[in-house]
Amino acid sequence: MPDSFEQTLQQYADIIIQVGLNLQPGQCLVIQAPVEAAPLVRLVAAKAYQAGSRLVDVIYDDDQLTLARYQFAPRDSFNEDRVWLGQMLEENGRAGNAYLRIKAEDPDLLKDQDPELVGQYRRAQLSNRKSFSHLISRNSINWCVVGVPVAGWAAKMFPNLPPAERETRLWQSIFEVCRLRQEDPLKAWERHIQDLAARRDYLNQKRYSALKYSAPGTDLTVGLPDGHLWRSGSIVSQGGIPFTPNLPTEEVFTLPHKDRVDGVVTATRPLSYASTLIEDFSLTFEAGRVVSFKAARGESILHNLIKTDEGSHRLGEVALLPHSSPISQSGLMFYNTLFDENAASHLAMGMAYQFTLQGGEEMSMEDFQIAGGNNSINHVDFMIGSAQMDIDGMCADGGLEPVMRQGEWAFDL
Ligand code: ZN
Ligand code: ZN
Repeated sequence: MPDSFEQTLQQYADIIIQVGLNLQPGQCLVIQAPVEAAPLVRLVAAKAYQAGSRLVDVIYDDDQLTLARYQFAPRDSFNEDRVWLGQMLEENGRAGNAYLRIKAEDPDLLKDQDPELVGQYRRAQLSNRKSFSHLISRNSINWCVVGVPVAGWAAKMFPNLPPAERETRLWQSIFEVCRLRQEDPLKAWERHIQDLAARRDYLNQKRYSALKYSAPGTDLTVGLPDGHLWRSGSIVSQGGIPFTPNLPTEEVFTLPHKDRVDGVVTATRPLSYASTLIEDFSLTFEAGRVVSFKAARGESILHNLIKTDEGSHRLGEVALLPHSSPISQSGLMFYNTLFDENAASHLAMGMAYQFTLQGGEEMSMEDFQIAGGNNSINHVDFMIGSAQMDIDGMCADGGLEPVMRQGEWAFDL
């Protein structure tokens, strides 16, 4: 095990290049990251060039610039976003270049801002990235999302630690859940991806027509379309490159049928959305569509999320993972979806990935929707799993089989 922070950071960069992106010789790489991530970005760029990359291009984001805009920019300007950014991402995607997103933000950054403006700007950003999101949904490129600490985020997670220690503590947690504290991180990842694939294969062979969830505050049936494909850990780009889109990743996921979701579901973790938090919320569905919702905090942000477009009233992802996942075991609330979604079974409002349906990658959006796939410019995971959750799979004959009991897998492999 490496003893210094620098060594572990090197290993983090290694797994990003090798496991996350699986960057190929000659491939260009686009990185989008917060300015605070510069030390990691430089390491990743160096390793990318060592792996044979022709060009590494970096776009830096800055929470403080975002905040300045909310404080001082004209109120009628929030439906505008950097047009060049959407075009640049799309062009890079079409060229087959790899994409790394380093995600980190203060989850309370915009908590005092007008929710209407927050919603407008988020919609502008999503519209701008729409073509790129479709490339991602079709697995056109190898891409990956990872995290780094930033001050506001670390403060939210560890308010009781002295400020100087918070980011170090968050680094430790990230290294832990990304398996960098294990003897041989690359081997550990290989094993982990195989374990996830075994669960995925079991579920794929079952061909359940629906999943039934029950837990305190949750009584939900989620239909699964014919031809749904469970996916996990490593997936393969259209160019034939296996890659791991999220580090960490603990989930096995597929798409729900956009018109066959009924009942009520209650979130078990806060949802960080558009640099604000939505907490203690539940959603009620009829024939796939949200018909009512409530939230103890952030209800207007939740409303803005749901009304992004027609598709954001419906579900696009169903993901299963045991309550005993390492991230859940850490006992930490991350207030960052990349981490929290890997601590609990979850659903996503909005776009379904076309690669979660047989033949989906080649389908037109119309055909994908006819097959039950959901279309939206948004895709937002929210966590519903807990140690009290039972999930049953519905077989072709209508009979039920246990999939999860009390938050744990109910089948052996
Ligand atoms: Zn997910
Ligand atoms: Zn998702």
